[in-house]
Amino acid sequence: MDIEQFRKAGYQAIDRICDYYTSLRDRPVLSQVEPGYLRKALPASAPTEGEDFQLIADDYQKYIVPGLTHWQHPSFFAYFPTASTFEGILGELYAASVPTPGFNWSASPACTELEAVVMDWTAQILGLDKSFYNTTEVGGGVIQTTASDSALIATVAARSRYIREHPHVAIEKLVLYTTTQTHSLGKKAGLVLGLKVRALEVTAEDDFALRGETLEVALKEDVDAGLHPFVLIATIGTTSSGAVDRLDEISDVAKRYPFLWLHVDAAWAGVALVCPEYREACQLPAVNHYADSFCTNFHKWGLINFDASCLWVRHRKHLTDALDVTPEFLRSKHGDAGTVIDYRNWHLGLGRRFRSLKFWFVLRSRGVTGFRRYITDCTKLNATFAERIRESDQFCLVAKPFLALTVFRLAPKSLPHLTALELNALNRAFYGRLASRSDIAITQTDLNGVFCVRMAIGAEKTVEGDVDRALDVIGREGRATLREWEN
Ligand code: PLP
Repeated sequence: MDIEQFRKAGYQAIDRICDYYTSLRDRPVLSQVEPGYLRKALPASAPTEGEDFQLIADDYQKYIVPGLTHWQHPSFFAYFPTASTFEGILGELYAASVPTPGFNWSASPACTELEAVVMDWTAQILGLDKSFYNTTEVGGGVIQTTASDSALIATVAARSRYIREHPHVAIEKLVLYTTTQTHSLGKKAGLVLGLKVRALEVTAEDDFALRGETLEVALKEDVDAGLHPFVLIATIGTTSSGAVDRLDEISDVAKRYPFLWLHVDAAWAGVALVCPEYREACQLPAVNHYADSFCTNFHKWGLINFDASCLWVRHRKHLTDALDVTPEFLRSKHGDAGTVIDYRNWHLGLGRRFRSLKFWFVLRSRGVTGFRRYITDCTKLNATFAERIRESDQFCLVAKPFLALTVFRLAPKSLPHLTALELNALNRAFYGRLASRSDIAITQTDLNGVFCVRMAIGAEKTVEGDVDRALDVIGREGRATLREWEN
């Protein structure tokens, strides 16, 4: 492809992307293809001779688009949202136009410097303590691929700090704490690093949040058994129900264990901190006072295209102590002098994408006001949804609705004597009906043995009419499930 062909194909690509977004509401949310559809449709080998790009662009529409789940569809309420904004797409495009592996400051100074700036901007808009800012040159922020990477890196740093302070402790004696509601990233960090993971119990009475007392008992038991607690992964906004671990109580306990690293995973809910009114409920004061590291994904509820996971640490030294490996070929004048950030020492890979560009574009284009409006709009839509569920004779809430997430289930007042097992079976049948539809995407979960359905609002194009339609579909499928059950 030469430069003029690129210009032409590029204009066409932007036109087609615009058409895609314009037509989104009319598409099924979920792909209708069967497993293996693409292998059947595509040749078994790459072409020997290059093909005309128009043919390739047309085949994208023909073969790839039908196999997409439309995460930005206004009726996408599954999992948590995945952000996409036009500013974010353009940030990706410009970044792709100047490929740079960005591992050292000198690999592309703008790449490192913009990342350090936008991580301070985002820390500021979320209300994070200044000790997390890059300008301190002590703490700082870095963009990672995912919250799972962020948790893994925090765990690596915590382990390295612990072992440095306790050189005679065997790795097998270290314990990583999560709760039964922590995202699978906790277990995965343990698996990858070969560490013991203890998942602490949480209860419905405590809104599925970890309490200080539960942590205290577990720490004492493990220390008495000769084990070494070294990291706790707490959550603000758990995946299943949006629970917020009681960081205030946790901090009080953890203070007595000076080498227990507190990593806070706020992958979804963290961006809500842009709104000062949600900061207390999200335990921001305790994060600012005590957390060693904090993560939120701007690519979830934060308007910035995947991947955009932000990790802040109070002491960057713990990352670099754990991850700095500098052979001669990676040395540079400024790196040696310690006058610049070399982000390769803040994550697992060497090369890294120029992700800060899309942050810069979206933050400038939307401003703090734009972020706040988006978060409060989603939260208001969820409040309406939750209210309608609360008022219904057919459904009940399973957990306290939080921000833009409601967890509910079928619990008909007409069938008050169903056992717990029967209710679960009824709800599996209900969810099966919802899952078989292509006009709405919604996912299920299990809260301490209670099977339920999660409604997570967050696509930027979702408006009240979409939530009304979802309520209508949910109501109809609920009634159909009950008719089947009663027969
Ligand atoms: N943490 C929480 C609370 C989540 O809900 C999710 C995903 O939904 C994750 C972490 C995983 O995020 P990632 O895919 O960025 O690893």
